[in-house]
Amino acid sequence: MSLTARDIIHKLAESTSHSYSEIAARVNQLMVEGISLSDAIKSIANSENLDTQDYLISSESIVEEARTILMEDYTQTLMISAVMAQMVESEGNERLPVPAFFAFMEILSMVDDAPKDQKSETSDEIDKYTTRMIELMTTLVSVICSWSTTGITGIAKNCPKELREIAQQIHWKTKMFQSGIWSCISCGSMVDIKETKALLCKDCDFALSDELSRLHPSSSERERIGYGQTKDVDE
Ligand SMILES: [Zn+2]
Repeated sequence: MSLTARDIIHKLAESTSHSYSEIAARVNQLMVEGISLSDAIKSIANSENLDTQDYLISSESIVEEARTILMEDYTQTLMISAVMAQMVESEGNERLPVPAFFAFMEILSMVDDAPKDQKSETSDEIDKYTTRMIELMTTLVSVICSWSTTGITGIAKNCPKELREIAQQIHWKTKMFQSGIWSCISCGSMVDIKETKALLCKDCDFALSDELSRLHPSSSERERIGYGQTKDVDE
């Protein structure tokens, strides 16, 4: 079973005479019309006379893989979180959709602290896992939440029972976000969205920057230029 929208679009493209970008455009078009990712994939598989059962996305497996990544290593998890937080706040192409970030936070809150080790994480590793996490989370929100042309409307009909709580949280937090309210992702205080820094209230932002600079002194000097890519500011 496929885990991400990208995997499944590749699989559809391989089984048909269409290119990846053609299939992706059709999926996008259907989703713009308010059709869910799963239904868009199903409808394309149907129209190509393929067995729709071969083109399912398992939301449980997505959560499983995300948890595995986050439980691997403490510093790595902290750095993935920092990059994701930076991307959700950024403008332009590299912007991480807010619901995908809420999904990430939900899963992060489900895992125990990962073990700490002595090795230092390479930026390639962090990029690889962050990119994978983004794909997993954007796919997850597309399948467990219901969508309309204006955004998330609730929990998807076929959302598995054990993920309904996550879908509900994503829906609720996205609605709050749209009305300008943010709950600090660290301590939970409700703050005006304009007063947040890196999605944290001012106090928590200060504490985190301090911890990050201790763990990885160069991280603040790196600037993200897109999904899975970073560059040094002085490059
Ligand atoms: Zn806080």
